[in-house]
Amino acid sequence: MKLHMQILIALGLGIKRNWHIFFGIIAGILVGIYLHGHANAIISNVLVFVGQVFIRLIQMVVIPLVVSAIVIGITSIGDNKQLGKFGTKMILYYGIITTIAVTIGASLSILIKPGLGAAHYIAENTAYEVQASVATAMEQQQGNILNLFLGFIPSNPLHSFSVGDMVPIIVFVVIFAIALAKVGDINRPIVSFFESVFAATMKITDWIMFFAAPGVFALTASAVSSFGIDIFMSISKYLGVLLIGFAIQMFVVYPLFLKFFSKVSAPMLFSAIAEAMMVAFGTASSSATLPLTIACCEKRGISHRISSFVLPLGATLNFDGTALLQTVAVIFLAQAYGVVLTPFLIVQIALLAIVASSTCAGIPGAGLITIALILNGMGLSPEQLVAGFAFLFTIERITDMFRTMLNVTSDAVVAATIADNENEINYDLLNNPAAYEEIA
Ligand code: ASP
Repeated sequence: MKLHMQILIALGLGIKRNWHIFFGIIAGILVGIYLHGHANAIISNVLVFVGQVFIRLIQMVVIPLVVSAIVIGITSIGDNKQLGKFGTKMILYYGIITTIAVTIGASLSILIKPGLGAAHYIAENTAYEVQASVATAMEQQQGNILNLFLGFIPSNPLHSFSVGDMVPIIVFVVIFAIALAKVGDINRPIVSFFESVFAATMKITDWIMFFAAPGVFALTASAVSSFGIDIFMSISKYLGVLLIGFAIQMFVVYPLFLKFFSKVSAPMLFSAIAEAMMVAFGTASSSATLPLTIACCEKRGISHRISSFVLPLGATLNFDGTALLQTVAVIFLAQAYGVVLTPFLIVQIALLAIVASSTCAGIPGAGLITIALILNGMGLSPEQLVAGFAFLFTIERITDMFRTMLNVTSDAVVAATIADNENEINYDLLNNPAAYEEIA
């Protein structure tokens, strides 16, 4: 049977197991389309409320989960050499997947040229609305790239914890955990403490998942009601390029990557993480999906040692879906504004997209904001681009849902690959979806 058929069947099985979440997405789309034409303030408010309850509950456990997972992951790997090996492999794999993503994005955009003639569709009133947010984002990013990296080192980790700034938190926790691993047995009380924290946060995640279907329904319905289905018609070329790119990455690149670097079967892995993929789609936040990604991987055969190290770092650094979108979006803008796309400029856009995406946070909308960094690198000014940005913003949420699903899937693809390479995978479990334990 052809691989893509197997993947579709596996996804089907995953959906069957989680039909209630899938039903939430479909019902959300239908209700959203209806509400777009029949606005109702009370229903909209209830939907926003329910969606926010779900997102906030799940975000509530992210920081304790990330901290405890990384501490346990790094201290259990223990010796320096192995940690270095895992770390290097992880960065290499994440790097390969993101480089392929930007290459696909750039090639499709150059081939299909979604930006030509786009100026025609840019509505002036929407342009003014986004002007302020774009200008602010641009201003914040105006410092040079070194300052950006400086911001990753937390001068006060407690401040980073309190505002939920993930990259500095991870930097601190990784350094702290490596130090813990080095001090030997004296680290036991702290490591045991974090083992308890991890177990408790996973339990809370289980409880929150009871709420996944209504949460995903409400989030999808509010997202769809804000733009309606007609918008797709007018910007079909841009959306088309993105969807083709996302599909190639999901159905061709990930399976080939797994085939090339491991023995993991893509259909089995996709089936194992189906819940996480659907929640990523609904929430458009890889951070919020992280607890579930970890639960799916660990309960279905990927060792705790690998999942707890590779997945939190992936949810913070690896955004290949976002990088693909950023490349397409910037080339789109360049085409819309008549900028000549020299090969050098294209390579520059692709490289900047790799950097910009990895500085992105795993929250809704972050990817479009960090595009400012790429534009800055190209010497463009905000005033020039406001109208183009308005265009991108109209379908921002729907593209966010898809790219987040990719971001989460590629984290699991890399985790499974490293687990395979290190003999840390239980194939009897992974390859037997019928035996999968329920998450909630
Ligand atoms: N929403 C994406 C994520 O959480 C980031 C983005 O905006 O591209 O992975």
